[in-house]
Amino acid sequence: MNQKKSLKRSLLGVAVIPILILGIVITFFAMKKFTSAMYREVESELSNMAYAVNDMLDIMFPGDYVKYGEKVLTLVKGENILNDRSEYIDSVKKDTGLEVSIFYGNIRFLSTIQGVQGERMIGTFCHALVENDVLKNGRNMFYDSVVIGENKFFAYYLPLHNSDGKCVGMIEVAKSADEVNKMIRQSIWPIFLIAVIAMIVTGFVTVRYAAGLIDDLTKLKDFMKEIAHGNLKKEFDYHLMKRNDEITDMCESASDMQKALRELIELDALTQLENRRSANHSVREMQKNLENENEKYALVLGDIDFFKKVNDTYGHDAGDAVLKRVAYILKNGMKGKGFAARWGGEEFLLGFKGYTVAKAAQETEDILDEIRKSVVECNDSSISVTMSFGVARGRKGASVDNIIKEADDKLYHAKSNGRNQVVFSLEDEEAEEEEEQEEQEETFKDTGNQVPVDEDVLEYIKELKGENDGGTDI
Ligand code: GH3
Ligand code: MG
Ligand code: MG
Repeated sequence: MNQKKSLKRSLLGVAVIPILILGIVITFFAMKKFTSAMYREVESELSNMAYAVNDMLDIMFPGDYVKYGEKVLTLVKGENILNDRSEYIDSVKKDTGLEVSIFYGNIRFLSTIQGVQGERMIGTFCHALVENDVLKNGRNMFYDSVVIGENKFFAYYLPLHNSDGKCVGMIEVAKSADEVNKMIRQSIWPIFLIAVIAMIVTGFVTVRYAAGLIDDLTKLKDFMKEIAHGNLKKEFDYHLMKRNDEITDMCESASDMQKALRELIELDALTQLENRRSANHSVREMQKNLENENEKYALVLGDIDFFKKVNDTYGHDAGDAVLKRVAYILKNGMKGKGFAARWGGEEFLLGFKGYTVAKAAQETEDILDEIRKSVVECNDSSISVTMSFGVARGRKGASVDNIIKEADDKLYHAKSNGRNQVVFSLEDEEAEEEEEQEEQEETFKDTGNQVPVDEDVLEYIKELKGENDGGTDI
C-alpha cells in the first residue's frame, strides 16, 4: 500500500537530523583537535623539562657518562657518581610534578618514579620500542602511552651523547596519563556543554519554525477543504495574511479562488445580485435565526410588469438593461436591510432581516417608487417599468418553501389586482401586532410590573433589561 508521507516528518528529517549530525561531527572533530593540541602542549612541557635537566646535569657535572661495574652498577658523569645525586631530579619533581629518569643504555639509573611500595624504579628497563627509537636511532621521542611499573604516562625521551658523539643513554620526563586526561576532560566538558546547548537551541528553533509552518499549511489545507465541501464563506485566519511570505501568497490565491467561485456559484451573471441558489441559502439562515433567536423576517417576491412587452418592443438587449437597472435599485434599496436576489427571469426575491410584514411592505413601496421614477435610455428610447410585489411573513415552524409560496400568492394577487403595487396580508399584520402585544406583556411580567405602560417607558424598561443582561449594575 502507498503510505502517505508526512510533511512534518520530512521537514524534521531535512532540518533537524542534519543539524544533529553536523553538531555531533563538529563536536567530535573539535574535541579531537583540542585533545591533540593538549597533547602537543604536554609534549612541549616535557621536552622543555628534558632539555632543562640535560643542561642542569651538564652544568653541575661536566663530562661524559661512564658506567662501572658488572653486578652493582655505578653511573659516573665527569668526576661525579650520579647514583647518589637524586636530589636534583627530586627538586624538579617537587617544583613541577613531573617524573624524571636518567638512563644509561636501556637501564634506569636515576628516577623519581616510585613503585607500589614506594621504592624508586631504579634498575628497570625501558620499552623495546623506546630503545630502538631513542638509543639506537638517537631521536627525541614523545609517547602518549608508556607503561612504567603499574601506571601509564605521557613521556618524552631526550638522547644523551658523550663528547665522542655516541648515544649512551637518555633522559625521560614523564607525566601521569591520568593527570593529563583529567586536565583534558576538565577543559573539554564546557566545549561539549556549549555544543550540546547550541544543538538543542538550534533543534528547538528549527522544530518550532517547522511546527509553525506546518500549522499554517494545515490551516491553508483546511481552508481549501472547506471550499471543496462547498463552504465559500469561510474566512482566513488573519495570522496567515500577516506572514507576508509565499504562504501568504498561496492564501491570497486561495482566497481569490474562493471569491471567484462564490461569484460563479452565488451571483447572477447579468445583474450581479445573489442567484436563486444563494437566496435559498439566505432564506434558510433567516428561518434558522427566527427559530433560534426569535429574529423576525419578511420575504418579498417581485416581478416586472409586462416585461415581455419590453423585450418585444425594444429588443432583448434593452430588456437586459432594464433588468440591470431594476437590480441596481433593489440592491441599493436593500442595503443594511437584508438581501436582494434574482429569483429567475424578471422575478426578484427580497429578504428583510428583522422586519415585520408591515415595515417590509413600507420599504418595498419606497423601492417601487424608485423603480417607477427610473428611466432606462436604450436605442433612442426611454423605457420605464413598474413592478408587482407580494410580501410574506417568516413564521416559526413553517417551511421556507411555504413562505416563498405565500409571497408568490400575494404577488399573484398584486398582478390580478392591476399590477404596480405591493400586496401583503392584513392577517399577517394582525398576527404580528398580537405577537408584539404578547412580547410586551412578557416584558411587564419580567419587570414585575402589571400596570400598562406607554411605548417610551416600555422601550426604557427593555433598555434597562438589556443592560442588566450585559452585566452592568444599575
Ligand atoms: P406580467 O406582468 O404578467 O409578469 O407579464 P410579463 O410579460 O412580465 O410576464 P411573462 O412571464 O410572460 O414574461 C417574462 C419575460 O421575461 C419572458 C422572457 O423572455 C423575459 N425574460 C426572462 N429572462 C430574461 C432575461 O434574462 N433577459 C431578457 N431580456 N428577458 C428575459
Ligand atoms: Mg413579469
Ligand atoms: Mg414572470
